[in-house]
Amino acid sequence: MTPIPGPTAEEQVAFLGKIERLLAEGQFVATYKYALLLAIADLAVKHGRDDGGELDLPIRAIAAEFIELYWRQAAPYGNAVADGGYNILQQNTGRQAAIVSIVENLRQAHGTLIRARQSAAWDAAVTEAARLVRDMPLWRLQRLRNEVLDFLYAASPVAGNVRLKPGVAANLRRFHAIIVRLAQTEWMHFIQSLPANSQLLGPTSDLDQFLFGADRSALLRMAAPLADVQKGQCLYCQRRVDSGDIDHFVPWSRYPRDLAHNLVLAHKQCNRHKSDLLAAETHLDRWLARNQIHGDAIGEAARTANVIVDLPGTVSVAGWAYAHCANLHAATWLQGDEVEPLSGRWQSLLIGYR
Ligand SMILES: [Zn+2]
Repeated sequence: MTPIPGPTAEEQVAFLGKIERLLAEGQFVATYKYALLLAIADLAVKHGRDDGGELDLPIRAIAAEFIELYWRQAAPYGNAVADGGYNILQQNTGRQAAIVSIVENLRQAHGTLIRARQSAAWDAAVTEAARLVRDMPLWRLQRLRNEVLDFLYAASPVAGNVRLKPGVAANLRRFHAIIVRLAQTEWMHFIQSLPANSQLLGPTSDLDQFLFGADRSALLRMAAPLADVQKGQCLYCQRRVDSGDIDHFVPWSRYPRDLAHNLVLAHKQCNRHKSDLLAAETHLDRWLARNQIHGDAIGEAARTANVIVDLPGTVSVAGWAYAHCANLHAATWLQGDEVEPLSGRWQSLLIGYR
């Protein structure tokens, strides 16, 4: 297969400009459009390529991402209200968004997202969410006040798939961090702007953390099992850790989702030095080996801890992150204050993995 050339520099800039226009000029009555943008950006990272090709995304896969995104959003927010119940943030200018009731039903029946995914009710919930995605945000996302800006995909889906236009997946992968930040910020502002939420939110709130932050309690539940598979050692310096951090191997700032196999036990100090950088290839090698040997054990612990398990997806995310880093000639973190460029070994490590 001959590779199709990726988007040119001009096309990349134009793409980002159009994303900004969608968010600024689109008419939003619900938060679905932010969720749709986040969902297709995530699927492009996991399944797309960096060339100029098209990419088919099953609407059911988008629907599953929707349920995952709204799982957090539709959790009870803030303190209990007078009658002992809890409030759920409004996601729509009118009646509460329908996705919230799909998620609430799953939550009531199954408690956690992990259990809901494994239940018999999951398929029906995805079907219902897929109908909603098709009927609402899919055609609305690219509709501005006076024009249609259909640069992401053609308006009508084909055989249950949304076909991303040539080069769109590559651009979503290249600008993933920027697009996620834009969509999350706009989503948060939308929720803050709804009068129905004003009392719930109050003057100061941890809304950003609630809507989009890492699930810290789930990460804490992973500490013991990760210490077990890493034999009590920091993944990076391999020295003994007593009370360490749970670090996101591909940094949270680049990919803000908790995936079980992306979590590692590390010294607080190693974690702090690494910060938002990708880890050097020698660490990538060790991380892949850890997941190859202990992948099942980590997966099993994560199901109990309510953290998403998707090892192939996690490896794709790492492949995307290292390719991006190589394109930018960015530095990777070795130890302490030391950084180094990629040698290219990351490619054979990741290709050899499966
Ligand atoms: Zn360390």
